[in-house]
Amino acid sequence: MSRAHYSIFSVLREALRGHTGWGPAWRDADPEARYDVVIVGGGGHGLATAYYLAKSYGPLRIAVIEKGWIGGGNVGRNTTIVRSNYLLPGNIPFYELSMKLWEGLEQELNYNAMVSQRGVLNLYHSDGQRDAFARRGNAMRLHGVDAELLDRAAVRRMVPFLDFENARFPIHGGLLQRRGGTVRHDAVAWGYARAASSLGVDIIQNCEVQGFRRIGDRVVGVETSRGFIGADKIGLAVAGSSSRVAAMVGLRLPIESHVLQAFVTEAIKPFVDGVVTFGAGHFYVSQSDKGGLVFGGDLDGYNSYAQRGNLPVVEDVCEGAMALMPRIGRVRLLRHWGGIMDMSMDGSPIIDRTPLSGLYLNAGWCYGGFKATPASGVTFAHLIARDEPHPVARAYRLNRFSTGHAVDEKGMGPHPNLH
Ligand SMILES: Cc1cc2nc3c(=O)[nH]c(=O)nc-3n(C[C@H](O)[C@H](O)[C@H](O)COP(=O)(O)OP(=O)(O)OC[C@H]3O[C@@H](n4cnc5c(N)ncnc54)[C@H](O)[C@@H]3O)c2cc1C
Repeated sequence: MSRAHYSIFSVLREALRGHTGWGPAWRDADPEARYDVVIVGGGGHGLATAYYLAKSYGPLRIAVIEKGWIGGGNVGRNTTIVRSNYLLPGNIPFYELSMKLWEGLEQELNYNAMVSQRGVLNLYHSDGQRDAFARRGNAMRLHGVDAELLDRAAVRRMVPFLDFENARFPIHGGLLQRRGGTVRHDAVAWGYARAASSLGVDIIQNCEVQGFRRIGDRVVGVETSRGFIGADKIGLAVAGSSSRVAAMVGLRLPIESHVLQAFVTEAIKPFVDGVVTFGAGHFYVSQSDKGGLVFGGDLDGYNSYAQRGNLPVVEDVCEGAMALMPRIGRVRLLRHWGGIMDMSMDGSPIIDRTPLSGLYLNAGWCYGGFKATPASGVTFAHLIARDEPHPVARAYRLNRFSTGHAVDEKGMGPHPNLH
């Protein structure tokens, strides 16, 4: 399907003729009997994978199968933060690849994803925390990633409205990544869907995978709510549903599912320029272009597949908010929602083959997978096409849980709800 090129000229032309000339951005396809590659999950990761597969490894017949509508999962529920401020060598090159892809994404997809490099500032509240942040900043700079350690005066100039003298958690400074920021989450799904569709990918919505067909240890297709679909290769990118979908084919994953909530307030005048994270509790905030404060905090703390949150965490997040910026108490909450997180045992993702031939796994994104979307797509496409891990995703093998090569960025140990 050829797509209209979006530009100032097409916007002007359509404005003059009452916007009657816009076609659908992508083709809502019906399933065919068989494909070269089927990607299960029409979230950011599944759609990006299909796009990079079609772009770099085609011609291939590719389908993305989504049980609901594209963008209805976590890609449309997250708090839109992108960054590459990691410490461990297994993580930094991967997330920096993602950051570089974000920087060129709108040109690549010809789609306005509202990529906004407004900066991500992690606050520190003690000398020990400053040392840990200095170490992380140094590791980033050694890998060519931008990082600046700010003292209290520099943070005060950037975000004067915070409670710097908080008796329990005074703000001592922050680690700033200026290239970090926000990207409009659902536009990422739409942009990848449009670009993939124009390369011939079938995007099949309202089609739930309910089982797998196997011949011995080879997976040969998926049983769906719209019939059987055969495939040479099948990639799973179902985020919070990973353990349930893998169980359909007899795989038990090192993943627990937990709910994470997010919140948005009524629109107010611009006053938070970038993303600010509290270092003494789990709370972070940014301001959307519409003016709402977008914020979030910790997991709900127990396993669940419900896409809605519970009140104790609402209270906990609001306490973090009030400790950091008491004036937020005057703002009215507009809505809050939840998404299901695929929490891995070490807090890092899995991009790997499975023990079953023809079946590939992309999972374990915890609550940081949005920023990874472009790199996840590139590296998962590489894995599926070449049958070997992409160089920047080598740390994300499934067997690390048996060999002991965990990628434990937070140093929390095997407790998925703490990562
Ligand atoms: C509240 C919240 C805040 C977050 N904030 C951030 C953030 O600021 N920055 C960041 O980097 N990350 C953040 N995340 C995490 C990030 O959103 C996820 O890690 C990432 O979106 C997961 O990948 P995805 O987009 O492919 O998932 P999804 O969009 O969930 O895609 C998976 C898709 O698989 C489909 N599916 C499931 N089962 C089946 C089936 N049986 N058959 C067919 N389809 C199926 C689902 O319907 C879904 O559409 C946040 C998440 C939440 C919930």
